[in-house]
This record gives sequence, structure tokens and C-alpha cells, in this order.
Amino acid sequence: MGNHLIDLTGQRFSRLLVLERGEDFISIRKSGARKGKLEKNVRWKCQCDCGKIILAESSALKRKTFPTRSCGCFGDDVLRNLHKNYNRKQTWTLKNKSKQKDKEE
Ligand SMILES: [Zn+2]
Repeated sequence: MGNHLIDLTGQRFSRLLVLERGEDFISIRKSGARKGKLEKNVRWKCQCDCGKIILAESSALKRKTFPTRSCGCFGDDVLRNLHKNYNRKQTWTLKNKSKQKDKEE
């Protein structure tokens, strides 16, 4: 049993060092052929370079788009937040500009 499980212990994913296997995370599939079925996600206890310990899913560590690479203090997470903030700022600026325009006219 468990032969198919890829042991990530000791592996490093950027700022995260895998310490040991953590508690599994059970989720319900929301789409696809197995919709509504329970799915077990293997999680790993990882220590971030900043000292924080988090649980990360195997798939989150290994996926190609936005993989988990820190506890949230670095890299892709920072980029993602920047992007979010940028978008928020854009909408805010646009809203404000149109308000100003209304006053001027
Ligand atoms: Zn961190």
C-alpha cells in the first residue's frame, strides 16, 4: 500500500522544505467525470525559509501554474498579490476619475 505515493520528504520547492507527510485533505470534486466523489489530497508539512510551517498539497507543490513555493511570503504569492492590488487600484482610479469628471462638468 502507498506505493504510488511520491515521497516528497526532504525535497525543496523554492523556499519550502518538505519535513514530513501531513494530514490528508479530503475534498469533493466539483467538476469532471468524478464530480461529487470524495478525493483525497496528500498534504506535506513544509517549512518555509521564514520559519513558518504550512501544509501544502502535493498537487499544489507540483503543478506548473502558480505552484506553492512559500508560506505566502515570497515569489508567486507576492506576484499574485501585486496583480490583485494593481487591478484594484486600476478600478479605483477609474472610478475616481469619472467622479471628478462629473464634478467638473
Ligand atoms: Zn515564508
